[in-house]
Amino acid sequence: MKIKKFSQSIFTTRPILPPVKEFNVKIQKIWQSRMLANMGSQHRELEKKITRLLKVPYCSLFNNGTVALMIAIKSLELKGEVITTPFTFPASLTSLTWNNISPVFCDTDPNTLTIDANKIESLITNKTTGILGVHVYGNPCDVKKIDKIAKKHKLKIIYDAAHAFGAEINNVGIGNFGDITMFSFHATKLFHTAEGGALTYKDKNLGQKLYLLKNFGIRNEEEVVLPGINGKMNEIQAALGLTVLKLFEKERKKRGKIRKIYNHFLNKTTGISLIDYPSNLVNSNQYFIIRINTKKFGISRDEVYERFKKYNVFARKYFYPLCSSYPFYKNLPSASRNNLPNAYKASSEVLALPFYGELTDHEIEKICLILLSFRK
Ligand SMILES: *Cc1c(COP(=O)(O)O)cnc(C)c1O
Repeated sequence: MKIKKFSQSIFTTRPILPPVKEFNVKIQKIWQSRMLANMGSQHRELEKKITRLLKVPYCSLFNNGTVALMIAIKSLELKGEVITTPFTFPASLTSLTWNNISPVFCDTDPNTLTIDANKIESLITNKTTGILGVHVYGNPCDVKKIDKIAKKHKLKIIYDAAHAFGAEINNVGIGNFGDITMFSFHATKLFHTAEGGALTYKDKNLGQKLYLLKNFGIRNEEEVVLPGINGKMNEIQAALGLTVLKLFEKERKKRGKIRKIYNHFLNKTTGISLIDYPSNLVNSNQYFIIRINTKKFGISRDEVYERFKKYNVFARKYFYPLCSSYPFYKNLPSASRNNLPNAYKASSEVLALPFYGELTDHEIEKICLILLSFRK
C-alpha cells in the first residue's frame, strides 16, 4: 500500500510556545518598569528558578549559548590546546578558536557518541589546558573518568550541555560536573528563551568574573577592570523563559511517551539502532536519534534523509559533517580520519527524527511506516 505524504511539513522540532496572553502580562510589567535589559527583575527571577531546576549551586544567564561558552573558556583562562570531540555543533569548537585555542580532536565512544574518555590521555601534551566534552543528545560524558584524568594532569573541564537541560545522573543535576557547564536556550532546544543560554558552576569566586566578562568588564561607573564583551540576557528573553519554563516538564513527559512509541516501532528493525541511555539518567528528551546501517537496512542514512523529504518529513543529520572536517580544522593532525574512526562511523549513520510534544500518535506511527517502507 502506498503511504500518502504529509499535507504539511513535519520538522525535527517545534518550539514550546506559551499562551500569548501569559507572555503579554509579563511584557506589560516590563513596560511599566522601563527596564529592558541589565539584569532586571525578569532576569533575576529566571536565574533563581533555573538554578533550582538544574539543582546547581550557581547559574549565570547569557544572551546565547555560544557567547556563554566563549566566556566560560575565557574565565578559566584556558590557552594552548583543549581536547574535545568532533561530533558536535560548530559552536562547541569555534568557541575555542575565538579564544585562540587549538582544538585537539578525540574520538567518540561507539555507544554514547560522547568523547571517548579512554582516548583522552594519549592526546595530552605540555600545551593542554583543558577538556571540553559535549553531552551529546543529553547522554552524559563519562564524567567520572574525565574528572580523574583532569585531576591527574591539572586540567580544567567544561561541558557543553546544550542538549541536556534538566538531565540528571543519580539525581545529581548534569550541571554539577566539571568546572563549568553550558546550556543553550535557543528556540530549537526543549527549554528556550528564543535565544539564550546559561553557565552553571560550583566555585563561588567564578561568579564575579563571569559577571564582568558578560558586562564589558565594567565593575562600576568609573572602573573597567577587564576586556569583557556583551553576553547579557535581556528582560524580554527572560520573560519568555519564565513562561516557557512552566511548560517544560509537561513537554519533556510528552516527549518521553513519543520516545516509547518510536522505540516500539523501531527497536527490532534490522539495520536500525537506537541510542542507549543509562538507566540512572533522567533524560532531557532533546532529540530522538536513529542510526542506520546501510548494509543491513538496505539504503543509506543519506538516502533515507532524501526520501523522507518526498513525504514532507524533514529529518536532520545531527551531527554531519564532523567539525574536524571543516576547512579551517581539517589540516590539524588530530583531524585525520584514522584518529576518529568511531566519530566518522556515527556521523554517517545518525538521523534525528521529528520529536516534539505536539506530534500525534498517528503521525509518529506514520513516520515509522514511511521509514520502514524504505527497507530493501
Ligand atoms: C545549540 C547548540 C549550541 C549553541 O547554542 P546557541 O544558544 O544557539 O548559541 C552549542 N552546542 C551544541 C551542542 C548545541 O546543540
